[in-house]
Amino acid sequence: MSRAWIGLGSNLDRPRQQLERAFQALDTLPESRLAARSSLYRSAPMGPADQPDYLNAVALLETALEPLELLDRLQAIEQAQGRKRERHWGPRTLDLDLLLYDDLVMDHPRLRLPHPGIGQRDFVLIPLLELAGELEIPGWGRASRLLAKCTSRTARRIG
Ligand code: ATP
Ligand code: CA
Ligand code: CA
Repeated sequence: MSRAWIGLGSNLDRPRQQLERAFQALDTLPESRLAARSSLYRSAPMGPADQPDYLNAVALLETALEPLELLDRLQAIEQAQGRKRERHWGPRTLDLDLLLYDDLVMDHPRLRLPHPGIGQRDFVLIPLLELAGELEIPGWGRASRLLAKCTSRTARRIG
């Protein structure tokens, strides 16, 4: 089994329920098991500011799905929960980013690993560190060191 770290985000249509549904959907993926889930965090939107705050969390999935197959599954869950692609970084019912897949580094047109935003986003690093304080991001270094260098810090734990 591989270890896949997934970042969840929602700021539309009852975000807390969206994240709960998404955790359940992750746990029912084939050849996969939801091994851990972080607390929920509230954070200010990235990009366009005329949208609600986000709820964010991170999941650890143990999976035998290959990375691109897992990405397909994540996008299917987004679709099932009403994700519409409109503005760049615009509001969404559900965003599932594949943050890390074991220590794989790849640059495929559909899938970059580690996720390119991981190092600068407090709403990703804080829940990752909640679950794995010693986590290393391949090519970037320790998650804790990256968080210490984050200039924008808005994420607040909400339980
Ligand atoms: P960001 O990627 O900066 O967080 P976003 O989540 O709003 O922005 P999306 O519109 O959800 O971006 O995704 C755009 C594309 O990113 C997807 O179609 C997908 O193929 C690609 N992508 C590349 N690497 C990844 C990854 N590690 N996880 C999820 N999607 C990825
Ligand atoms: Ca994202
Ligand atoms: Ca995404």
